[in-house]
Amino acid sequence: MKKIALTLTLSCFFAAGLMAQITDPKATEVWDPVPRKITPGKNGAAPSDAIVLFDGSNLNAWETQRGGNPAPWKVENGYMEVVPRSGGIQTKQKFEDYQLHIEWSAPTVIVGEGQERGNSGVFMQGIYEVQILDSYESKTYSNGQAASIYKQSMPLVNATVAPGDWNVYDIIYKAPRFNADGIKVADGTITVIHNGVVVQNHYHIKGTTPYIGLPTNEAHGPGPISLQDHGNPMKFRNIWIREL
Ligand code: MG
Repeated sequence: MKKIALTLTLSCFFAAGLMAQITDPKATEVWDPVPRKITPGKNGAAPSDAIVLFDGSNLNAWETQRGGNPAPWKVENGYMEVVPRSGGIQTKQKFEDYQLHIEWSAPTVIVGEGQERGNSGVFMQGIYEVQILDSYESKTYSNGQAASIYKQSMPLVNATVAPGDWNVYDIIYKAPRFNADGIKVADGTITVIHNGVVVQNHYHIKGTTPYIGLPTNEAHGPGPISLQDHGNPMKFRNIWIREL
């Protein structure tokens, strides 16, 4: 309430063109509320207020996309690895607006080209795909390469590192909003930072990210983070999320 009151007060000043008449610096200082103090993580480690989705030890936070069974992917040496054709996995917990950190690595044994080489994907709310693909030295359509919003928005640059090295995605996501009639009234938005480089800058998501066809916009509520099994043994580690 205090925040709202202050905003209103400042808005009134601006509206009335009175800013020039403020002479006391304290008039524009906010002392209450105070932002919560947290401990940030070092080198991509989870901050103290994050929900850790995968710390390298087990897949307890995950389940199969189909059937909600225990996630069957391999866990070893601090990472999880897709077991090809075992199916996609998703978090048991559902989310709306968040900051997501995820690290992935493509196989060092090179198989295939384009969409067949080191393909997976991380889906916002289980619906909207940020492409994960070995785009280091492999050609595909630009809006389907690593860090694209699949078939909607190509990344601003290609920041992919070599197979076997770890790619980092830091994603800031705001879910779309729907009214009571199921009509979308606000786009979902997404910012993707790939290995420290902004590659999607507050992109307005057009809708679903299908392989064939145009985006659609069915109403939905909170959803899981899901990871795609595209038949390649992709690795993931250090996954955490902060609800916003
Ligand atoms: Mg994919």
